[in-house]
Amino acid sequence: RSEIMKAADIALYAAKTGGRARLRIFEPGMMVEVERHQTMIALARQALTHDTIVPHYQPKVRLRTSQVTGFEALLRWRDHEGQLRTPDMVRAAFDDPALGSLLSERMLQKVLDDIQHWTRIGLAFGHVAINVAGADFRQGGFADKVIRSLNARQLPPSCIQIEVTENVFLGHGAGDVERELRALSDHGIRIALDDFGTGYASLSHLTQFPVDLLKIDRSFIQRIGTSTDAEAITSTVVNLGHCLGLEIVAEGIETAAQESYLRDINCDVGQGFLYARAMPAEAVPACLAQSETAGQIAKAG
Ligand code: C2E
Ligand code: CA
Ligand code: CA
Repeated sequence: RSEIMKAADIALYAAKTGGRARLRIFEPGMMVEVERHQTMIALARQALTHDTIVPHYQPKVRLRTSQVTGFEALLRWRDHEGQLRTPDMVRAAFDDPALGSLLSERMLQKVLDDIQHWTRIGLAFGHVAINVAGADFRQGGFADKVIRSLNARQLPPSCIQIEVTENVFLGHGAGDVERELRALSDHGIRIALDDFGTGYASLSHLTQFPVDLLKIDRSFIQRIGTSTDAEAITSTVVNLGHCLGLEIVAEGIETAAQESYLRDINCDVGQGFLYARAMPAEAVPACLAQSETAGQIAKAG
């Protein structure tokens, strides 16, 4: 009997993850999914308790000048062998009601510590964009926490951006999200809409929520040069965004051809392996020094 109850529980969980008001019948494959989820949660919890989270920074480049305008903070953590890992093994934890906001809190504090250090040594790093998940907004008081953390270190709101994906706008609690984002925005923190073009969001969200930047999803950028459809979508998003007064960031630029297409259609900022992968905080000063030189070469050319 307990096996049947467990199976029912797992099917219930699968139904809930699939969205509201749906019925799912248990299949053995669901068990694998649940175990994978539990492993992710356990690994994230370990990373928090052993304090092995290390934010890494990927540069964002202004396409017109080739200079670094800022960075995106990406979560990296060390496993028990000390090996550096990307978020994919802990991904489920970002949306976990309890763990998600603990992860964000840890990232926020570490990123602000790095920013404070760069500020003290007079490094012109621009800004750091921080990823935020739905769990952060459900807790309440998120904007307050961010603003208090900035104030405690005497940092200006312009030194960070907050990145959210379209799905935080959906479902119940969208009102809370709007309130929190508005509080951040009113304080002068810029908001970026991440993975744009892949979600279910409607275009009206762009005017309803205080969005300042659009990040065009990597899946479109990577098909530049091979898919006229992807190119049409990319250039339309750039125009649409500009008409609404938004800054456009292209994610996942890997080739010079993609970069030059984006520059031609007036995309503002680029990010991707073509420039650099995410790097530890200690590598940021050298990255900026190199960008300074690249900018000068671009100007001379
Ligand atoms: P994202 O926010 O869309 O971040 C961009 C991802 O694309 C990063 O993967 C980055 O390493 C990767 N990327 C950047 N340029 C290129 C490129 O040219 N080619 C390819 N193939 N990939 C590129 P990463 O670091 O593995 O992060 C994956 C996702 O995990 C992020 O997607 C974000 O949704 C989430 N994430 C990362 N850090 C955090 C965090 O601190 N908090 C939250 N809530 N989510 C995070
Ligand atoms: Ca992001
Ligand atoms: Ca993205």
